[in-house]
Amino acid sequence: MALIVQKYGGSSGADTESIQRVAKRGGETEKTGNKVAVVVSAMGDTTDDLIDQALSIDSNPPEREMDMLMTAGERISMSLLAMAIHAEGSRAHSFTGQQAGFLTDARYGAAHIKAVKPDRVKNALSLGDIAIVAGFQGINAKGDATTLGRGGSDTSAVALAVALGADVCEIYTDVDGIFTADPRIVTSARRIPSIGYEAILEMASCGSKVLALRCVEYAQRFNMPLHVRSSFSRRPGTLVVPDGVDPRTLPNID
Ligand code: ASP
Ligand code: MG
Repeated sequence: MALIVQKYGGSSGADTESIQRVAKRGGETEKTGNKVAVVVSAMGDTTDDLIDQALSIDSNPPEREMDMLMTAGERISMSLLAMAIHAEGSRAHSFTGQQAGFLTDARYGAAHIKAVKPDRVKNALSLGDIAIVAGFQGINAKGDATTLGRGGSDTSAVALAVALGADVCEIYTDVDGIFTADPRIVTSARRIPSIGYEAILEMASCGSKVLALRCVEYAQRFNMPLHVRSSFSRRPGTLVVPDGVDPRTLPNID
């Protein structure tokens, strides 16, 4: 039995239908005999909309309140996804960053993860639940909500995968992995089947469109394999693996 962390971004969960699609995918991964923790980002443009709303009220909002506001986006997706999984007939339990044990420093809007203590997530997984965790957020030493910087839920997913000792961290997006160029613009772009961390970090121009660089650095530091793939298709994506690891040995690759 493998332990898989799946991260779904805003484009994978922009509306009710997408949330149901994500619920199906997570449920199937669990039903085929894996333990599954899902990290979610806010739906569609929610985070941008929250920022616009804040700035229309106060052009210089207090950082603490801004982070409090921004963590709301991921709370919406985590709870709706738990309901969608429940409606599909599987068991799910959602957790905020705080409940999932994400402890950060005090830099509001750009906090760094200091430790992840996912005891409640482990407990949910051991009971056979799909654990759903709000990405992009944690708490500081004062107990206040913090956010990790835009696009931070990729990093949350890798940090959770490392803390749980997961076999792979799957990053779901709207393209079939990492390409030699942006496939939405360059028609001759080819999907890269597998690649090392260093090479991705060097490809900042195309790799970083799909993955936050901090997430790749975190994965590299702890040798956590990544699988970047589309939530809209069943096609294989791009495997990012440590040197010497045979990508074919990773779980859930077909
Ligand atoms: N929702 C946050 C953002 O839009 C985090 C993320 O998407 O990873 O930046
Ligand atoms: Mg987002």
